[in-house]
Amino acid sequence: MDLGIRGKTAIVCASSKGLGKGCAQALAEAGVNLVLNARGAEALEATATEIRSAHQVQVATVAGDITSDEGQAAVLAAAREMGGTVDILVNNAGGPPPGMWSDWEKDDWLKALNSNMLTPIALIKAVLPGMIEKKWGRIVNITSQSVKSPIPVLGLSNAARAGLTGYVAGTSRQVAQHGVVMNNLLPGAHDTDRIKSLNSAEVEKRGITMDQAMAERANAIPTKRIGTPAEFGATCAFLCSQHVGFMIGQNVLLDGGVGNTTM
Ligand code: NAP
Repeated sequence: MDLGIRGKTAIVCASSKGLGKGCAQALAEAGVNLVLNARGAEALEATATEIRSAHQVQVATVAGDITSDEGQAAVLAAAREMGGTVDILVNNAGGPPPGMWSDWEKDDWLKALNSNMLTPIALIKAVLPGMIEKKWGRIVNITSQSVKSPIPVLGLSNAARAGLTGYVAGTSRQVAQHGVVMNNLLPGAHDTDRIKSLNSAEVEKRGITMDQAMAERANAIPTKRIGTPAEFGATCAFLCSQHVGFMIGQNVLLDGGVGNTTM
């Protein structure tokens, strides 16, 4: 399927590895020019080189923390340099650490809210005027299955992402009349560094191997496997395509069916 977005400009936040990288690769395959971002320059440059050699698209890199004002300003400046205005924004950042309700102090809350709620909101606010003027825009926020079905040890994530989801629910309906489409993409377990880091607590506590922890996780999913960044990225690219003009403020769950709900 032609996604109809060849030549557009996208910012993909937190995209040197994992789900963000999967989104960047799928957008590049659709002919989208990219601004990639991550804190670590080495993996970021390696990903940019990989994408440039596989696809005929421009790829700029911004090494910096997307949760900082400077990081946000730098990715926006890089996109302006590349294409004038941003056509597509994929919001992403690292997830908060696991823990217990009794662990989290105000600073932990502020950090989680900044990473997983206020940063995407700031970037959305920055790109919306240009999208509205052009009467076209696509915004995808990578959130989590925990928005629909809380993961108790990820209380910081459950709460911060629920806040973003509430904001997107209202704002997506305010901007839809201008051709701007904003949706959320909710990963369940996917094969990335994040899932390994979440597994490491089980590995340590129960004395099992990482492979065992991964197999247990997969076995609890109706697909009997965890997701791949490539299939996550393909869904993201579809949510950035010409074909989703009537799809507003949705929460698209990619969890292999683990959320046991009828609707
Ligand atoms: P990952 O494999 O650990 O990759 C994270 C990527 O984000 C890396 O490129 C990392 O590079 C970058 N990054 C992290 N913090 C950043 C920051 N502050 N500024 C800029 N770049 C940053 O993680 P993932 O699995 O792709 O997860 C992506 C998001 O989905 C996370 O919020 C995660 O909690 C959520 N999620 C993941 C899963 C899953 O199963 N994988 C499930 C549910 C939700 P640097 O470290 O170099 O910055």
